[in-house]
Amino acid sequence: MKKFMPILPGAAIGVLGSGQLGRMFAIAARRMGYRVHTLSPDSDTPTGQVADVEIKASYADLDAVRRFAKNVQAVTFEFENIPFTTAEAAARFAPIRPSGNVLHITQHRLREKTFLHTHGFPVTRFHVIRAESDLDIALKAIGPKAVLKTAGFGYDGKGQRLVSSLGSAKKAFRDLGNKECVLEAFVNFECEMSVVAARGSDGAFVHYGVIRNDHKNHILDVSMAPGGISSRQTKRAIEITRGVLEKLDVVGVMCVEFFLTDKGPVINELAPRPHNSGHLTVDACITSQFEQQLRAVCGLPLGSTAYLRPAAMVNLLGDIWKRRNLRWAETLKDPDIKLHLYGKAEARTGRKMGHLTALADTPELARRKALNARARL
Ligand code: AMP
Repeated sequence: MKKFMPILPGAAIGVLGSGQLGRMFAIAARRMGYRVHTLSPDSDTPTGQVADVEIKASYADLDAVRRFAKNVQAVTFEFENIPFTTAEAAARFAPIRPSGNVLHITQHRLREKTFLHTHGFPVTRFHVIRAESDLDIALKAIGPKAVLKTAGFGYDGKGQRLVSSLGSAKKAFRDLGNKECVLEAFVNFECEMSVVAARGSDGAFVHYGVIRNDHKNHILDVSMAPGGISSRQTKRAIEITRGVLEKLDVVGVMCVEFFLTDKGPVINELAPRPHNSGHLTVDACITSQFEQQLRAVCGLPLGSTAYLRPAAMVNLLGDIWKRRNLRWAETLKDPDIKLHLYGKAEARTGRKMGHLTALADTPELARRKALNARARL
């Protein structure tokens, strides 16, 4: 692969998207002396609040995107639903890392699953659904218990329905707007886990081991590292992750989400950016996933992913804001708890407002501490 000249501190890095992932990237980048510009359709955003420059423009406003890209030395993204044409327009003026090709594949479930399947990576059986009439054959092929997911623009379980018969599948297809979908076999998993990894411009590969994840209502609830997964399964998950990053020629951070099954790890999906399950690396590791993204995007050597202590993270969703007055001081009574809030003004149900990380001598203890701290809130 072609190694590029490093982009050094003092340079400006552009972030497409403006949520919490961009915010934590911007904090890491500013700490290392970089400037950060962000572009998204909103203002006073989690990223914009800590960036040097916040541009409010639609992703479809390609003139604004070009102006944004002209003023930075490299562009990255914190949200994979950025239109591919936006990434291409930016790439004419500044390198985009990971590449537009990675974005294009990973922002569409069907392209992503087809890519993974074609290259021999383990994915659950799936079938494309373009019309209601495709459902019958698809259900016969993959079994009645399945998950119907829109092919594009889904996250945190949005745009998906569990189905168990032709009738429920037809209803789900209509509920999802008669849009192109992927029907995938339901996986009876032992647990969910993820590998957050980074790849440099020189092909260097680092990872944060296997992180164990629990979801509630399809949204990540708790992550724990080390994940306590057997060494055989861990080795396999890391091998698969490395293979995916190499095949896609990723320069940046990528998270591979897995279902752990008795036949080994099965990929659920890819995220071409830092991931919610990797937030605990901010407090627990020598180099966080966000600093790693910066280093990879800038062509700097990647940092150590070593854990200083076992850790667990719990998400703080907007639901909590609606129930009570929040008792931050109570939550922080345990000195091993770290609070992260994203600067979002409006708390909505299911909206990620922040997270807590706990550090402890064992991952299980860290998990208990994090859950207790959230309960005290
Ligand atoms: P996704 O948005 O595709 O990551 O799905 C969100 C969550 O829904 C996952 O983390 C799982 O808990 C659950 N889920 C999604 N697809 C499947 C599947 N094929 N089998 C079982 N559970 C699933």
